[in-house]
Amino acid sequence: MDTGRKAQVVVIPYPAQGHINPILAFAKSLASKGLLVAFVTTTSIAKSATFSDCASLTLHTVSDGSEHVDGTETVEAYFNRLRCKFSTNLADYIDSHMRGARAIIYDSVMPWVLDIAKDRGMVGACFFTHSCSFSAVVHHLGQGLLLRFPYEDDVAVVSLPALPRLEKRDLPSFPHLAPNLNLHYLVKHLTDQFSNLERVDWIFFNTFDKLETEILEWMRSRWAIATIGPTFLLHGQDKKQSISMFEPKADAYREWLESRGPNSVVYVSFGSIASLEKEQMAELGHALLATGHHFLWVVRSSELNKLPPDFANTTAGKGLIVEWCHQPEVLAHRAVECFVTHCGWNSTLEGLSHGVPLVAMAQWVDQTTNAKFVADEWGAGVRCGGGDGIVGREEIAMCIERVVGGDEIRRNALRWKELAAEAVGKGGSSDNNVEDFVSKILLG
Ligand code: UDP
Repeated sequence: MDTGRKAQVVVIPYPAQGHINPILAFAKSLASKGLLVAFVTTTSIAKSATFSDCASLTLHTVSDGSEHVDGTETVEAYFNRLRCKFSTNLADYIDSHMRGARAIIYDSVMPWVLDIAKDRGMVGACFFTHSCSFSAVVHHLGQGLLLRFPYEDDVAVVSLPALPRLEKRDLPSFPHLAPNLNLHYLVKHLTDQFSNLERVDWIFFNTFDKLETEILEWMRSRWAIATIGPTFLLHGQDKKQSISMFEPKADAYREWLESRGPNSVVYVSFGSIASLEKEQMAELGHALLATGHHFLWVVRSSELNKLPPDFANTTAGKGLIVEWCHQPEVLAHRAVECFVTHCGWNSTLEGLSHGVPLVAMAQWVDQTTNAKFVADEWGAGVRCGGGDGIVGREEIAMCIERVVGGDEIRRNALRWKELAAEAVGKGGSSDNNVEDFVSKILLG
């Protein structure tokens, strides 16, 4: 395919659902403003995902070397393969198909893409898919002056510039994901995002000014940050998720939601990666049954076997379990009254932008920091659990009731909805930053 030849901008997502969604929305927004956008995915994404509604972009696939991988691979081997195989193939692909492109926009967890741009005289723009606050904490972890990993056992409260005081449970959390996973390697993967920022031409954050005012001011005193979020709302998108690694089995949940009254459904989802322990699934299931509310619970197919036996049948009438849904559409539905979330950054932004109060059940990495902000800084929800171990059914049920019955929490959530819409609306802070980028690229 050589349609990329005319591309002015090449967009490179990190191959995971939570990373693809926000940068894809940004890419579509750039296309809607007149840029020619080439969107490049890896062979493994091209093989496993479904693509729809991407007509405004040209889609390209570059090999990440996955065709030569037998069996399972460690996280380190995976990151190394991306860095070696994908980067070499990407550079070759750009040379042969996209010579005239002016800029590369890449996910900040792949900082090595900057060299591909710079070696070719292209503008290098990195896109952070985490919050600015979490990213600032990661920056300090990388510096190792105010915060070090592993955290000291007796660390009680951490004071970092322009951030609220953070307890240990608010800090980035790295529970063992897989046997033999080297946590230092994982932390380095995150801190490396800051390794070459001084050479980057544009630094995009999927957030908005009024949400993270103070930390943005601090970050902007170091780097030229452009806020462009919530990207899923840019140019009034909020439509279908167009590159999906999971497929809703059926659209039955739409009908089910339609049949529910306003503000009567608890929506529950832990995103695309988090995997709850079987006991935690049981506690959550019991809590949902114990409340007087209907619920819509996303349980990915790989997690279904952790549900209590016969749970789906027991809940008939009261709750619906689906393997995937179009989350922004669900959150926009009048029937949804609260969102039990793992606080992935996309889910957090999507909840806030729809004015839906959150029950924050963080699992790992940035979610713990996001949960702190949801509850204590933005007042848009309550925190549920957060220490080590299983969160019990009573606590979960109590958090749901507090959020559903909390007028102030609902008012705060609705205020964030207004402010998010203002940021992406005409003349809003995020909209202005997108316009600025587009006009500079068009001017060459
Ligand atoms: N999502 C979805 N349907 C679902 C569950 C999640 O469309 O049933 C989307 C959600 O809208 C969000 C993304 O998947 O854009 C998850 O990203 P997030 O950062 O919240 O969490 P992650 O999956 O990266 O842990």
